[in-house]
Amino acid sequence: MLSERARRLRPSPTLAIDSRAKALKAQGVDVINLGVGEPDFDTPEHIKEAARRAIRDGFTKYTPVGGILALKEAIAETFQAEQGVHYTPQQVLVSCGAKHSLYNIFQVLLQEGDEVLIPIPYWVSYPEQVALAGGRPVFVPTAREEGFRLEPQVLREHIGPRVKALVLNYPSNPTGLTYDRAALEAVAQVALEHGLVIISDEIYEKLLYDGLSHVSIASLGPELREKTVVVNGVSKAYAMTGWRIGWALGPEELIKAMTALQSQSTSNPTSIAQVAALEALRGPQEPLQQMLREFDARRRYLVEALNALEGFRCSLPQGAFYVFPHTQALYGERFSGSEELALYLLEQARVALVPGAAFGADGHLRLSYATALEELKRAVQRIAEALRAC
Ligand code: PMP
Ligand code: GLU
Repeated sequence: MLSERARRLRPSPTLAIDSRAKALKAQGVDVINLGVGEPDFDTPEHIKEAARRAIRDGFTKYTPVGGILALKEAIAETFQAEQGVHYTPQQVLVSCGAKHSLYNIFQVLLQEGDEVLIPIPYWVSYPEQVALAGGRPVFVPTAREEGFRLEPQVLREHIGPRVKALVLNYPSNPTGLTYDRAALEAVAQVALEHGLVIISDEIYEKLLYDGLSHVSIASLGPELREKTVVVNGVSKAYAMTGWRIGWALGPEELIKAMTALQSQSTSNPTSIAQVAALEALRGPQEPLQQMLREFDARRRYLVEALNALEGFRCSLPQGAFYVFPHTQALYGERFSGSEELALYLLEQARVALVPGAAFGADGHLRLSYATALEELKRAVQRIAEALRAC
């Protein structure tokens, strides 16, 4: 019955692990969920209040397909203020989450057989979305010793005649890596030489530590701005994963095609959620700063605690809310790889986490620290016990 396309499609492993952990919890099992990348904080009250107001005011009908003008303007103005690059509302599309923006991009960009460069480790949905659009993911290796930074020379070596685009995700899920201006310029130079479209997933851009600040590749000059689609959203920075608002900023031709696609698929993102996202961008930013301080404390704790475990090697991530310890030393007779290890830890330690294999890096595990510090402490204790028992 199913299409070839549907038969090839693999469901999102991050969401699958999350569902499994939540189902176990619902059965009364005391699982600590470090699986999914979802802030544990509640959506800030002023944002929820804006949504209540929208309902009270009857703002509950279709909006323009690509989002209300006020939100598009807020997105463009925020980007201008932070990155110094101007976009018109015609160059902005609001979608049902950043994941939806990415889906739209690949659908309108790729011809059958076009290749898309994806650095390893990668977020789980890029290869599947590329394949769904008829494209072919081309994975570009990076070195753990270099913090998984994409090397311009290695990138160059993977560019063949069918390569059309490059996906960059910084700060990265799963590694937390980000790029400073110089490193970004080196990558951008290669992309420009080969006329690549750059899909710049900046969803963790507000979650940077140690005083680092985010530089968007679109800000490196007009040529790059023309070749880049920036993807972002409110899920991570404003603890709004369930509201499903994300967006893309890019060349008008691309945005127009994505809007047409959206008009034939989902129509507009939820009207009420758009008002809430507008409040997130325009309203007070203090809740974000509070979350960031808390994430930072957890990050420091978790890295140190994991490094004390035998077989775990963990570096301090620069951004996002994941740690990505190297656990290869534990593989061998007992565990064939990250999937078996993750399964063992779920069953024995009742800690849900994601095997590195899901991100193309089997030597690792991904743990999300978007969970209370006390829970993280319990999780590490349980992992330590489970490892001692095996
Ligand atoms: N990009 C990356 C790198 C992510 O980790 C996520 C996680 N959800 C998304 C995009 C999609 O975010 P959302 O659809 O919730 O806006
Ligand atoms: N992006 C988050 C993660 O990697 C949420 C789940 C998903 O959309 O994949 O865990």
